[in-house]
Amino acid sequence: MKLILIFSALLGASLCLETFVGHQVLRIKTKNEEEVKKLQLLESLEHLKLDFWIHPATPSLPVDVRIPANSVQAVKAFLESCGIEYSILIEDLQVVLDKEKQDMACDQQKERTRNTFNYGTYHSLDEIYAQLDNLASEFSNVVSKIQIGESYEKRPLYGLKFSTGGSHRPAIWLDAGIHSREWVTQASAMWIAQKIASDYGKDPSVTSLLNKMDIFLLPVANPDGYVFTHTQNRMWRKTRSKNRRSLCIGVDPNRNWDAGFGGPGASSNPCSDSYHGPSANSEVEVRSIVDFIKNHGNIQAFLTLHSYSQLLMYPYGYKCTEPADYAELDAVGKAAARSIHSLYGTTFKVGSICTTIYQASGGSIDWSYDYGIKYSFAFELRDTGRYGFLLPANQIIPTAEETWLGLKTIMEHVRDNSY
Ligand SMILES: [Zn+2]
Repeated sequence: MKLILIFSALLGASLCLETFVGHQVLRIKTKNEEEVKKLQLLESLEHLKLDFWIHPATPSLPVDVRIPANSVQAVKAFLESCGIEYSILIEDLQVVLDKEKQDMACDQQKERTRNTFNYGTYHSLDEIYAQLDNLASEFSNVVSKIQIGESYEKRPLYGLKFSTGGSHRPAIWLDAGIHSREWVTQASAMWIAQKIASDYGKDPSVTSLLNKMDIFLLPVANPDGYVFTHTQNRMWRKTRSKNRRSLCIGVDPNRNWDAGFGGPGASSNPCSDSYHGPSANSEVEVRSIVDFIKNHGNIQAFLTLHSYSQLLMYPYGYKCTEPADYAELDAVGKAAARSIHSLYGTTFKVGSICTTIYQASGGSIDWSYDYGIKYSFAFELRDTGRYGFLLPANQIIPTAEETWLGLKTIMEHVRDNSY
């Protein structure tokens, strides 16, 4: 009987979109180390099922946490008893999700009548993949579709190659969406793809870049997770691989790289959202990128898009020591942040992963940097917590536009400083 119940519960969970009715997102402000410790204790209480969007680590940084309806009272009582300050970022998560869904349906209808890809709305994986084909045929002089592997659930890992010819030119790598719920990243990557393609031959900067280097873009680095965020659970972050020792699914693909693997800021608990996996590169999505980069042999920059927090980060995350190229990376990062700021006044904080957020091991740019790719940067796009992962679609294009300016500043530097 018990087994049947478990089975039907699992089946039920797999058939419908998970609801977040009454889930609140709190912004918690800590004043000192002691309060950080208290929040870390709170984080360790698994039965509360808290989802930390920003983990407690440093007193000066805010902590954002999604709290299921039936834990809200307990968490607030805990914070109040400790005298820890908080405010409510999102009163009822489901209300925001319903709005997002409604907007998407509306935009989809418009898209169908116009029969063009609307870069200002969120799309399914199939729609994104179809648009990669469209871009490759519309801009066949410079764009081609590539496949770098297959996901755990056997979805193709499709990307775009921007190239104007020449055999084995130096190249720039750019990926988005390795954390599936960070929807503005996949959407921005698509806008950036059409921007690069349509600017070639018009914008002197893009033209000179592509006359010297290739760009590889992987807009959906975690397609299984991305599909899952559309069909089952909007808040899904990890891959969808099965764990041998647990019923919990998935690995945090940005804790799975072979850089300080299993160190601080990654969890060994398969049920955690920052589970590092059984071994480095255990996730086929990660392995596929690593193999691609190694096989290529001349990748000069490794750029990756995440959200949210408005940060532009360079190594390291698994340790808190400065990288050998610290001065140059910091200067390039700051120049890119100025470019971003120039368009809409959006401010990005620049620094190493460890100094801007917290120690986190097994991350992609630490691996790429230690592998020898000097220009390794991770972006955390908009916003700073008003909507978090649920950034309204009307911010996609402004986000993509400003991000592109930052990326372009880095790419120009790479073009002029190849090594
Ligand atoms: Zn992320």
